[in-house]
Amino acid sequence: MRRILATKESLTAVNGSKIMEELDETPVAKKCSRCVYDESVPNIVFDEAGVCNYCQLYDSLNRQYPNTGTEGEKRLQELVDEIRVGGKGKKYDCVVGVSGGCDSSFLLHTLVGKGVRPLAMHFDNT
Ligand SMILES: [Zn+2]
Repeated sequence: MRRILATKESLTAVNGSKIMEELDETPVAKKCSRCVYDESVPNIVFDEAGVCNYCQLYDSLNRQYPNTGTEGEKRLQELVDEIRVGGKGKKYDCVVGVSGGCDSSFLLHTLVGKGVRPLAMHFDNT
């Protein structure tokens, strides 16, 4: 089945009325009202407000494990303190797996900035 991810308004603004005629004959994928996921994402379901289950999962995890603002900074500092205590008298405070992507690189940057001495490990198993 052919899927269109743009709204009718954005296609009209960019491409003019000919595309609009084609779009009127093409089913538009249902899309989350908060994020970019649409019904092509495996196991996606939407609530009555059109919010997908992945946004709801994010909200739930963010309530359990706040990672932003004052509460997130406090929690991060508690983890850093615990890691540094565990590393006392050792060459490294912890081991961090590094893929080379943004997430692990940012984690290393953040830890070193907070005074943690990580041993960065990378496995080239490709
Ligand atoms: Zn969503």
